[in-house]
Amino acid sequence: MTRRWGRALLPLILLAAASCVTPGGEPGALTDIAPGERPTLESDEAGLWMEVDRIENNLKTSGHIVRDPELNAYVRDIVCRLTTDYCEDLRIYIVQVPHFNAAMYPSGMMQVWTGLLLRAENEAQLAYVLGHEIGHYLRRHSIQQWRGVRGIADALVFVQIVAAAAGQGYLGYVAQLAALGSIFAFSREQEREADQIGFELMARAGYDAGEAGRIWEALIEEREAADDPERFIFFSTHPSSEERMETLDRLAGEYSGQAGLTKTNQDAFIDATRAFRTAWLRDEVRKRDHGGFQVVLDNLIEAGEGVGALHFFQGEMHRLRGDDGDESEAVAAYRRALEAGGAPAETHRSLGLLMWKAGELGEAGRAFEDYLAAAPEAEDRAMIDSYLRQIEGDQR
Ligand SMILES: [Zn+2]
Repeated sequence: MTRRWGRALLPLILLAAASCVTPGGEPGALTDIAPGERPTLESDEAGLWMEVDRIENNLKTSGHIVRDPELNAYVRDIVCRLTTDYCEDLRIYIVQVPHFNAAMYPSGMMQVWTGLLLRAENEAQLAYVLGHEIGHYLRRHSIQQWRGVRGIADALVFVQIVAAAAGQGYLGYVAQLAALGSIFAFSREQEREADQIGFELMARAGYDAGEAGRIWEALIEEREAADDPERFIFFSTHPSSEERMETLDRLAGEYSGQAGLTKTNQDAFIDATRAFRTAWLRDEVRKRDHGGFQVVLDNLIEAGEGVGALHFFQGEMHRLRGDDGDESEAVAAYRRALEAGGAPAETHRSLGLLMWKAGELGEAGRAFEDYLAAAPEAEDRAMIDSYLRQIEGDQR
């Protein structure tokens, strides 16, 4: 554990220099929120809650919400096992955005982005992130932060501006969510407190605390490989520092030594997310952050679940990047995908396109025929048929 963090420390020091950390409010000035508690009507807190409620109402009807009842029940169940007392006060929204992120708003609205669900290896890793976000809610960190630093009235104005911009065109959906997230960004002290609570909740539920650091490690690796590290939303709303890493390291050491804390629930996690992974990978490849995506794919391939589809996306990444050597890398990846099985039908189509481009007409024709056989209802059937006729003509 210690050795792993040792390696991770240098990039973190660099990251810390780039992240802007605002000083915290007065810790302890507020008591923890009680189960079922809502702010009294005349309080400044109530105004902020009402504004956040409006954002939540918009989110509820958004096309970006994953509504699958089983997946929602699965995530909710983890939250409720982490915190029985506050289970009823937290409303969890799974938002289809291909970035690693989770966010807690002062009213108990919690967002879990699909990029987090794709990147977590097991339930223990997800539980750590959920527990950390629960910690922000319990300690009323948003209110603390706003009373201490800028004042609730300012927060209200910012939230209103960002909320009003929704649907106005100039602020994309993800940018809006990220902007809201940064309004509710927390201080270093609060992050440490949230980590402490996250670990406690995780350990109380029997999870292996050592998993908490592993998801961070993978994330840092991804950020280092990213084409545009500035787009890392999680690091912009969660200040990352060597100090915080030391806390994680120490806490993991304390908790992972405890007997019985070995639960990762990897199988349950994979069962719950398996059906969605192809869609989430499709969102990721469209981001065209080829360097970052490569790291995500490497980690998923190493974990060994659904490898055929992963090799297909590896091929797509190379095909879209189109640098020297990428086409042959793509062809090799599609072949690995087909060999492993479970790859989507488009693997044949992508392979056909590259073979055609390379002048391998026989192979291209066979690949397109395999595609139509694997996806007889394909929407682009007419187009593929026309490709096949063209190839046939060229072969004569
Ligand atoms: Zn946090």
